[in-house]
Amino acid sequence: MSERRLLMIPGPIIFEPSVLRSLSKGHLSHMSTEFTKLFAEVLGNLKRLLFVDDEFKTIVLAGSGTLAMEASTTNFIRKDDNVLVISNGVFGDRMAELLSRYPVKVDLLKVNSPGEVVDNGLIEERLKEKNYSLVAVTHVDTSTAVRHNIEELGHIVKDYNALLVVDGVCSVAGEEIRMKDWNIDVVLTGSQKAIGVPVGLALIWLSPRALDRLKETNARYAPYYMDFNKWIDVMDSYEQLKPIYFATPAVNLIVGLHESLKLIFEEGLENRFRRHRVLSEAFRKGVRSLGLNLLAKNDDIAASTVTAVYLPENIDLSDFRREMASRNVIVAGGLYPSIKTRYFRVGHMGPVNANDIASTMATIERSLVKLGYPINLGDGLSVVQRFLSEHGF
Ligand code: PMP
Repeated sequence: MSERRLLMIPGPIIFEPSVLRSLSKGHLSHMSTEFTKLFAEVLGNLKRLLFVDDEFKTIVLAGSGTLAMEASTTNFIRKDDNVLVISNGVFGDRMAELLSRYPVKVDLLKVNSPGEVVDNGLIEERLKEKNYSLVAVTHVDTSTAVRHNIEELGHIVKDYNALLVVDGVCSVAGEEIRMKDWNIDVVLTGSQKAIGVPVGLALIWLSPRALDRLKETNARYAPYYMDFNKWIDVMDSYEQLKPIYFATPAVNLIVGLHESLKLIFEEGLENRFRRHRVLSEAFRKGVRSLGLNLLAKNDDIAASTVTAVYLPENIDLSDFRREMASRNVIVAGGLYPSIKTRYFRVGHMGPVNANDIASTMATIERSLVKLGYPINLGDGLSVVQRFLSEHGF
């Protein structure tokens, strides 16, 4: 069977060949001058990615996004703190579940139905009622493909005592995040999504306010490996080109990240965000024109990195995914528990291009026709094509 396929899931994504090639350096010491210089450049470029300056710190750990979630919150908690978790889907719920293992009081503010985002006004009401030390929110919840307005939320939370922690696993490097201007204290992501490196790096950005909080908590409840006090010293040491050791950094993946960031800045951040916006809008218009519904209740909250689409009533998810896979396009199933068999998800982030969107759309049409859904082949595709073409793709 051919190995060629179009992987259109929301991470891991299709990686740039030069990123994959860069991983194969087999002789790099984590203490070498070559690696130190490269890691220092990575740390600087990560700051540029979120539009922050040197008052902010960036931490790169070996681990997946879930480790980044745990590290980004547990470093900042004290016993009996009130923490507020906003849940727009599965990953907000995960954050609450994770924090409930620690000695804090977790309040969960959750959407009424999948495809909505929690209203920022409601969050502010909660902040007025109780003294929260931390608010955690998912920027793009990958389970329902909705995007929270974290810019607005940042402006609300800054007037309260709480640190604002943003799970950017499905958004960083695909959606714009101006961490400093938007008053966000902690951003976290994993490498396998829009930042374009195989799974295995947990990336975290900290604001000066988060660093002050760390002094207060002294990372008392952070798991040993995730203690930011230790890691900040390590990251500082690389930035000063005098590396110290705490636990071996994921050398090869960091080389891959260096290459991927180089490509990201060659494209330019504004171009990159626009590409994600236009491709995702083209895709949404295409699926809607086939009479399919999206989970996202409206376009303002529809993510640019992933789209979740309800299947027609009489079409079975596994049959649909099998038809897609037999045509070499891999899409993801649903994830939100109560409706997970009723929808599919398409990831379109990182190096995704207009051809990928057109091919996916065309393959959705042929798969649906094969399964007996009455559409005219090419109807969705022509909508996609027109939109892409009108926007210069
Ligand atoms: N948060 C979000 C928004 C995610 O999409 C994911 C992964 N899909 C995670 C957290 C967890 O990341 P990982 O699977 O890399 O542990």
